[in-house]
Amino acid sequence: MKITNKHNLPPVILDWIEYSNKERQTQLEQGDFTVTQLLANPKEQYLLQRNPEIEIDASRFIALLSGEAWHTGIAKNSTDRRANGALVEKRYSVKYHGWKITGQPDIIDGDYLMDYKESTVGRFAKGVPQEYENQLNFYHYILTSNGIHPKFMGIWVKYKDYMPSRSGTNHYPDAQMEYFPVQIWDYDEQDAFIKSRLEAHVGNLNSQLDKMDMPQCTDEERWYSNEIHAVMKKGGKRSLHNAATHDDAQAWIDGDNTKVKKDQLVIEHRPGIYRKCENYCFASSVCDQYNNT
Ligand code: SF4
Repeated sequence: MKITNKHNLPPVILDWIEYSNKERQTQLEQGDFTVTQLLANPKEQYLLQRNPEIEIDASRFIALLSGEAWHTGIAKNSTDRRANGALVEKRYSVKYHGWKITGQPDIIDGDYLMDYKESTVGRFAKGVPQEYENQLNFYHYILTSNGIHPKFMGIWVKYKDYMPSRSGTNHYPDAQMEYFPVQIWDYDEQDAFIKSRLEAHVGNLNSQLDKMDMPQCTDEERWYSNEIHAVMKKGGKRSLHNAATHDDAQAWIDGDNTKVKKDQLVIEHRPGIYRKCENYCFASSVCDQYNNT
């Protein structure tokens, strides 16, 4: 991987990216797979593996650094918790069908397995996203294999887009950090999930697929956001109502659902986007699926 610097980021950030990439590489070398890798999109991993000289701009790493800084802060300031027996940012491994999988939960404190996330209010609006429930259950399986048996799991999320002025309104969170319990699956369910993730990756990595046979990412893996028809007040920035179709948006206007006068309302079409492909996938520049659609 070659890091470019098209936006002239300062050297201190470039150094941080380089150091952080080396750290990540060291973690990868401790086993065959990390939990993070197995939970990630198989096609992205496949493409990165097949294109070691791929160019990625430094600006794409900023979100990653921000998340890592949050974890570094917790690890650095947990001396007292460690002294009281908490296990902080410790990496564990399990041998699974011959493959060594390693994972690093944030904190195991007493009976609790706790993870800390940096996210948005919208992402947690309907509770814990499925991928985080998967991740914690993956960790739980590995910990159990190491003789550690957390009885409870949960996520503390820090909202990076939190607006204090909206606190307590419309189900908006009361504070910039919020706790969500996470369900612990039974052993067989955890086992079946891990097996499915391993098969998705091992099948791809071992195969000699040509371009035609390359696995395709699902809409879910590409973080597809459906197109919406937003009802807006003329000149306004916020949508008053999001509808799936233009007709639904018009019906909402006709149904007198807002005090804004009808002649002041417009319907704005926002096309669906693949958010992961557009902004977050490191393999997007060499991805046939993304570049041909
Ligand atoms: S660019 Fe999109 S389709 Fe291609 S590997 Fe990445 S997420 Fe998948």
